[in-house]
Amino acid sequence: MGRGPGNTQGNGTGMTRKNDDGRKNGNLSPATRLAQAGRRSEWTGMPGDRGSIVNPPVWRASTILYEDVAHLRAAETQNDPHQLYYGRRGTPTGWSLAEAITQLEPEAEGTMLFPSGVAAVVTALLSVLKPGDELLMVDSAYGPTRAFCEGFLKEIGVATRYYDPLIGAGIAALCSEKTRAIFLESPGSLTFEVQDVPAIVAAAKARDIVTLIDNTWATPLLLPAMGLGVDITILACTKYIVGHSDAMLGSVTANARCWPALRRRALGLGQMASPDDAWLGARGLRTLDVRLKRQGESGLQIAQWLETRPEVRRVLHPALPSCPGHELFARDFRGPAGLFSIELADPSDKARAAFIDALTLFGIGYSWGGYESLALPVDPARLRSASAWQDHGPLVRFNIGLEDPADLMADMARAFGR
Ligand SMILES: *Cc1c(COP(=O)(O)O)cnc(C)c1O
Repeated sequence: MGRGPGNTQGNGTGMTRKNDDGRKNGNLSPATRLAQAGRRSEWTGMPGDRGSIVNPPVWRASTILYEDVAHLRAAETQNDPHQLYYGRRGTPTGWSLAEAITQLEPEAEGTMLFPSGVAAVVTALLSVLKPGDELLMVDSAYGPTRAFCEGFLKEIGVATRYYDPLIGAGIAALCSEKTRAIFLESPGSLTFEVQDVPAIVAAAKARDIVTLIDNTWATPLLLPAMGLGVDITILACTKYIVGHSDAMLGSVTANARCWPALRRRALGLGQMASPDDAWLGARGLRTLDVRLKRQGESGLQIAQWLETRPEVRRVLHPALPSCPGHELFARDFRGPAGLFSIELADPSDKARAAFIDALTLFGIGYSWGGYESLALPVDPARLRSASAWQDHGPLVRFNIGLEDPADLMADMARAFGR
């Protein structure tokens, strides 16, 4: 007793306080933070109680009851993010997950949770953009992100210009007086080009432009994007944070500059994540480091093997020297994740479907980041405008799970035999 972050007794302002505010522990590694963060004593124990539980439980709520009218009025004016107020403002279950995500990046001021990754992406954009602004969007962006720009943003008078993911410092030439934000996604989740994040951030900062990154592939563990100067980082927590393919969840983390507008916009749009889903996200977050390492290592091993196969024309994996932007990957990333694509030597749709259908250990379905392997046919060409993706055949994208990679390769070899 007396050591755990959840302990309410002891000296009260000593160990307990320090652990409660992870930002004071600036030198802890991310793996340690994953185990410790978000376990404040007031979320894991009861006031005056001698013990506490390890994980903040699921606090479900809509109505919050007040002692009297004076307390109700006081809560209204305080606007304290960690005070029970009304269910939509969240409960300790979500606050705990948000705090744990915030503590993964020392430059982060706060995190808002969302019911999906798409809700996180669009709310982050709406916290920055207003009618008349221009947005620079990476050409390799996630499909629904692009659809939001083409649809809703266009309707409210925000113009989007797409840029080549490999543009680097050349982004400066695309910035105009109206450019308000630059959106990055690195690597792209279909084609895996790696962006020069520091060069784009430098160009943005020189012009007071806000930078946002969809960091779902790498998470802050593999790409500490805020450390590279990005203002806002977005995670589709549905993928690696939840990690078990059983909940939808998103998060947006902002630095001090962008946090007040983000929180205001998210609350104003009525965005929140259910306590049950936040709890599943927190459950997944605790093991993120080991899952990512294992899935990343297996994925790279399989990608290297696929490069030697005659049935494969190309492997799109940022840790392979043949991938566009690989030298940036080697410079900025701390390791690979487990999602990558291959281009088959046989360009026919039929051959691709036959290969995927012949796999027995890979599920066929959308999403990724779970513990189980998936194979998906993807066709990025129709999602491009600023940079061509034409001379390539059909792609298959793999989510490599926690299975033994030897079994996965044997399954693929068997399927190639078809
Ligand atoms: C899946 C995904 C999203 C959207 O997340 P959902 O939770 O499915 O809404 C956003 N960005 C990327 C890169 C994704 O892969």
